[in-house]
Formats: sequence, C-alpha cells, structure tokens
Amino acid sequence: MPDRPADLVLTGGHVHTVDRGRPRTDAVAVTGERISAVGSAAEVAAAIGPRTRVVDLGGRLLLPGFQDAHVHPIYGGIDRLQCDVRDIHPKSAVIEAIRTYAEARPDLPWIVGSGWYMGDFPNGTPRKEDLDAILPDRPAFLPNRDGHSAWVNSRALELAGIDRATADPPDGRIERDPDGTPTGSLHEGATSIVERLLPPTTADDRATGLRIAQAYLHSLGITAWQDAIVVPDDLATYRGAVESGWLTARVEAALWWERDGGENQVDELIERSSTGSLGRLRANSVKLMLDGVLETFTGAMLEPYLDRDGRATTNRGIDFIDPAVLGSIVTRIDAAGLQPHFHAIGDAAVRSALDAVEVARAANGPSNTRPHVSHIQVIHPDDIARFAELDVVANAQPLWACTETNMEELTIPFLGPERATWQYPFASLLRAGARLAMGSDWSVSSPNPLEEIEVAVNRVWLESRGLVEPFLPPERLTLEQAIEGFTLGSAFVNHLDAETGTIEVGKLADLAVVDRDLFAADAGPIGDAKVLATFVGGAAVFEDPSLGG
Ligand SMILES: [Zn+2]
Repeated sequence: MPDRPADLVLTGGHVHTVDRGRPRTDAVAVTGERISAVGSAAEVAAAIGPRTRVVDLGGRLLLPGFQDAHVHPIYGGIDRLQCDVRDIHPKSAVIEAIRTYAEARPDLPWIVGSGWYMGDFPNGTPRKEDLDAILPDRPAFLPNRDGHSAWVNSRALELAGIDRATADPPDGRIERDPDGTPTGSLHEGATSIVERLLPPTTADDRATGLRIAQAYLHSLGITAWQDAIVVPDDLATYRGAVESGWLTARVEAALWWERDGGENQVDELIERSSTGSLGRLRANSVKLMLDGVLETFTGAMLEPYLDRDGRATTNRGIDFIDPAVLGSIVTRIDAAGLQPHFHAIGDAAVRSALDAVEVARAANGPSNTRPHVSHIQVIHPDDIARFAELDVVANAQPLWACTETNMEELTIPFLGPERATWQYPFASLLRAGARLAMGSDWSVSSPNPLEEIEVAVNRVWLESRGLVEPFLPPERLTLEQAIEGFTLGSAFVNHLDAETGTIEVGKLADLAVVDRDLFAADAGPIGDAKVLATFVGGAAVFEDPSLGG
C-alpha cells in the first residue's frame, strides 16, 4: 500500500483479474496511474481518503482493459466519414444508401464508401450496372467489408482504363463476364488500379479518423491496440496525436511491408521504428501480408481450391511475398528487434509464416520479438503444434469463426469437407500450448470485444443466436480463455504484458467496467453487455453517467 490515499476506488463488484494468483475479488484502488490495492471491499477500504473517488460497482464486472491485437483505427474512423454501408442489408438497401449519400453531395467528384457484405450479392461479387443506374456520370469506388475487393461503376473503370484488354495484375484479379468484360468487381491488387485515382486522403482526414476511432474504441472498453497497417502518413498522424496530447490509447504500430519494396526496406523500417516511439506510441512491429482471402480464391492454399461442383482446380491462391525469400526477410526483421506480424488466411500462408520464423529462430536463436500470425483461418493439422514450438502467437479474429453466408456459400464448398474443419482452431491451439491473442480487424468486423468474445465462446453468429449449431464445437473457448485472449494475450503481442493485461498491484490502471457479471448464470448473451467505463492509466477515457461515484 502506498502511504497516500488512493485517487480512485472501484468496489462492490466482481473483479476478474486475469491474474492466476488471485482470479476473482471485489475491489481495486488506483493511485496515480497505477493499481495500488486489489482485494476484498474491506481490505481496499483502507486506501480511501477524503479526496478519493469511490465508485460502487453494484455487482458489475471489472476487467483489465481490452487490447485489440489487430485493428485499423485510422481507416475505420475515415470509413465512418464516407459512405459507410457496414450495417446495411440487403443489396437493395445498400444501393439506396449509396444513392442517398451521393444525392446529398452533388459536389463530390468521387463517391467513395465501404463496408458491403459479400453475402448480399450473387457469388459475392456486385456488378457495375447497379451502380451505373444511380451514378451514370460520377465514378464510384466501394471496397467491401474486408477490404480485399472493391465494387466500381463503369465511369470508374473507364477513368482507370480497365476494359476487356486489360490483363490482371500479378497480385490481383479483375472479375469478368465469360467474354472478358469487367463486371465491376476488383480483387486484391486490382483494386489499386482505381484506388490510385481517388482524391488523396489528407492529414486532417487521418487525424479526424483517428479521433473518431479512439473515442469509439474507448467506449467499447479498449485501452490499447496494435494498428495492423501503418504507412508513413499514418505514423505521422499518431505522432501528431501524441505531440498534441490527445493520444490516450496505448498503441503498437505495425509498419507496412511494401510487397515490391525489396529486402533492404528493413533498414528504412528500423529508422522509422526509432522515430515512432513517443508517449504511448510504439512502432516496433512490421506487417507482412502473405495472402488474400478465401472468398475470392486469393488466400494461399497448400492444395488447390475446388470448383462449384467440388472438382479440384489448379488455383492455389496468391502468395503476396515469395515464400522463398520470406525466411531471410523475417530473419532480418527479428535480428533488428522488430516484431513480425503476419497476415495469413490460407494454410499455405500460415505454413510460410511458421517456416519463416523457423529460419529466423535457427539464425538468430530465441528472441523477444514475439512474432504473431493474424487471421489463421485454415491451419493444416501438422502446423498446430508449431505455434508453441516456435513461440509464435496465434492472433485470432473470433467473430469470423461461425456459420454465416460467406462461410456457407463462399468458403466451405470451395475448401471441401476435410479442410473446412481446419478453420479457426482456437481451442486446439491452446491445447497444443500456443499463446492466443485476439483482435477485431475493424473496420472489417465489429470492434466490440464483447461480441467477439461471445462468438469465441459459442461459435454462433450474433444474428443466428439459438438458430444454428455452433461452428466446429470442439474449438469453442471458455469465457475465461476468451477474456484472457483479449487482455493478457493481446498485451503480450503489444509488449505491454509487464505493465497491463491483468489487474495486479503495481500495474497500470487500464480497466473496463462491464454492466453485468458475464460469469453469472442469468447474464444473458455476452455480446449484449455494455461497457460503462474505461480507464487508461487511472484516467477515465470513457464513462457512462450511470456509473456514478
Ligand atoms: Zn487487418
């Protein structure tokens, strides 16, 4: 106990500490930015002085603040400023929303938006004609929810010079009719042929996006995150936020590895990393995007995709970074003390990531760079144990581990029955001793950790509660495991576990108050619970007036 009274005491609740030594207690005291006492209400009462703020939790749940191990806050915030169709279904309503947005903004030279859901369109690929009907003259560019495909109209195709004669770029595909005519859907690298024509995003847009995102993420109990794609302009945005004093979240920036930038960009990234560590900002991670997504057959697979009739094709997807050079790239990143953060969806991409870390481990020996693989949609059973063996963190996006249209219509038929059961094997990874972190990949998916945790525990899509069987039930996690993934597990990949991730005396007071005890039998669906307050370093960064105290 410090010799001065606490600044804040949260008492009368259920404190789930994620500390195995004392998993559950009633009260916490905060002095300055750190936790100064943890224990029963009576024990912690000793820390209350005349100026201590005392909050009666009234049986609510106190957790360590959530940490999102893979999120895109700046882009997520900017999306909210543009034509955002994330929560709009079905297709007719999406088109109506775009029409309304465009009509209200006659001066915009481009209609830019995002967030449509593949399941709302036949074969997951929307067509230009639907946009042409509402936007005959102005170009339109709308990436889908996962950002791996974009919907464009005829005017955009024309401005970009994309027609029947245009070849697919090496890292992408132009969706076409049988006669070769582009349909208005572009995948992966093909999206950038149009994207580079858009009015540039300004520094103000990025700063506004980050401000919106930070407030939103704090309101969901998130106190720290790893930004999974940070280009130099984004790093400048974060630095600006630190310098102006408004970055309240703890942020690890994963610096973007340019696919065609060559191996020597490691030197540039080391330099950039050293200028990116300021206040609560660190830039010690490097994002290596190894493949695309399964729905568009761009995820890298060990065996080919099947066709619509279940016959093998010759398509194994796309390797964005040549696996033959990945080992030496990762060896250099690891030797520089930077963290490899892989995007890997298909089983070949997951294996490439593990192989590359194996090369680095052989060359460099053990390191503290904490490599992690995000997404891990399909893992070959032979590779499950390698996560623990190589000390590679599995970075799960649990909201995807359930049955919905993308899974049923655009994924399982093209994987076939055996590989379909290798998806999102979170419990198998834990049983094999792997470390698990969690993230949302927002703005691809909802950034609400309570929704993510619900799906991790139940493996049922939120909109299908009670209607469908869990997706691969042996891979369900316990509530404790899922909470640990979103707190201590993610703190580990953010190199924040010594200071945050659990509720223990001496750690930073990064905390989230949830409106009910999720462990109670009558708590209701986890994803329906709400965060009432979020503290970073003892300071409230979000607070619902109903918290009191
Ligand atoms: Zn991402």
